[in-house]
Amino acid sequence: MSKQADVIIIGAGVAGTSCAQQLAKQGHRTILLDRQSFPRHKTCGEFMSPETQEMLDYLGVHLMGEEVKPSSMDHAKIVMSHGGEINAPLPGQATGISRYELDRLLHENAVNAGAEIVTGTTVTGIQKLGDHRYEVDARQGNERVRYEARVVIGAYGTKRPRGVAAAEEYRDDTVYVGVKSHFSGITIPARVELYFCDGGYVGISPIENGTVNVAALLTLNSVQGSGKSVPEILRAASRTNRRLAERMAEGEPVSGTQVSIAPLRISHTPHPWSEYPHIGDAMLMLPPLCGDGMSVALRSSLLCSGWTDKYLKGEINFVQWRKQYTLEANRTFTELLRRARRMQNLAFAKTNRFYPGIARMIPGLASYIVKATRLSESGIGTR
Ligand SMILES: Cc1cc2nc3c(=O)[nH]c(=O)nc-3n(C[C@H](O)[C@H](O)[C@H](O)COP(=O)(O)OP(=O)(O)OC[C@H]3O[C@@H](n4cnc5c(N)ncnc54)[C@H](O)[C@@H]3O)c2cc1C
Repeated sequence: MSKQADVIIIGAGVAGTSCAQQLAKQGHRTILLDRQSFPRHKTCGEFMSPETQEMLDYLGVHLMGEEVKPSSMDHAKIVMSHGGEINAPLPGQATGISRYELDRLLHENAVNAGAEIVTGTTVTGIQKLGDHRYEVDARQGNERVRYEARVVIGAYGTKRPRGVAAAEEYRDDTVYVGVKSHFSGITIPARVELYFCDGGYVGISPIENGTVNVAALLTLNSVQGSGKSVPEILRAASRTNRRLAERMAEGEPVSGTQVSIAPLRISHTPHPWSEYPHIGDAMLMLPPLCGDGMSVALRSSLLCSGWTDKYLKGEINFVQWRKQYTLEANRTFTELLRRARRMQNLAFAKTNRFYPGIARMIPGLASYIVKATRLSESGIGTR
């Protein structure tokens, strides 16, 4: 017997949970499925760009009023592998909070709005039935479970479920590895620090309770032979940036916070729809350098929940639902992705040692590096 719902959302990260909250709030029977148990650590720089503030307010999530005290950041320091440095103000206050805490808060919010969250449940297949209905197959321990709904939303991050066809044409060929660990003992002012090294970059930024996030994006080729554990990979990366090695030596990894993700491939085009809508990383994997992935996750989930609500209420038909969300997602994210990819290419260019010099010669370039990757005003509430 299939369990019935109006909406099944696959993936209870930032995108899925915020979308579930919005749809449940509108009275739609919403079930959120995730293969993991929560709270959990997640590979992420845990830097919430200034743009996320407006969307979190809209969702009723007020991080600064919480028991856990997140950090604030107002500038960035970029350190090249040869020691040169760029300092740039951020275009607003950014927030540092662990995904362990953030996702926990978003879950609470979704449940309070009436969504049901089912964890430890791995989706293995999605079929389209006649009459615009979907069937979702999942594994819960040794048991197989089945759901049926009018709407399915893919919020499963960069790894699609096993039974779902690949859409490799939307992603680059270069394969990356992402790693993260919390550190204690590193004192950091209100800034995010980015260190370039052979094969990628490492970000260091403050999160809650005096803890610091250290996260890296490295090409798979560059980590071959570095060792398998997250501290080993981070140590190997720091060998090609002396200032990074000195910074990391100030602290100690916090045990139990190390996670990694591979293989990772950056998008070259948004992919908002296959047989059903995608949101967050499932729709678009942005180069993490920009620290904007969570902003895209929140923004796409708000766009998608808006059109899905209209569809479920019968105000638009299936074709309009697909067309409108696809159009709006492409319009919102294509230009951002193009600029973020340009930054990523600069960051990975062998000549990046020259950028501090260029930045001094062209006033405003450093701020451009930070600003160019930002989403424009979201227009929430004006739709
Ligand atoms: C190294 C690195 C650093 C980053 N730093 C930043 C940063 O500083 N700031 C920022 O904004 N962004 C950053 N990002 C990007 C950010 O982490 C993502 O954009 C964001 O997590 C996307 O959220 P999401 O909800 O789409 O996906 P996720 O948070 O990945 O959630 C997807 C969920 O789907 C579940 N799932 C997957 N498959 C299945 C299945 N088959 N069945 C059931 N459940 C499934 C997973 O368990 C997971 O919980 C970084 C990414 C990397 C790799």
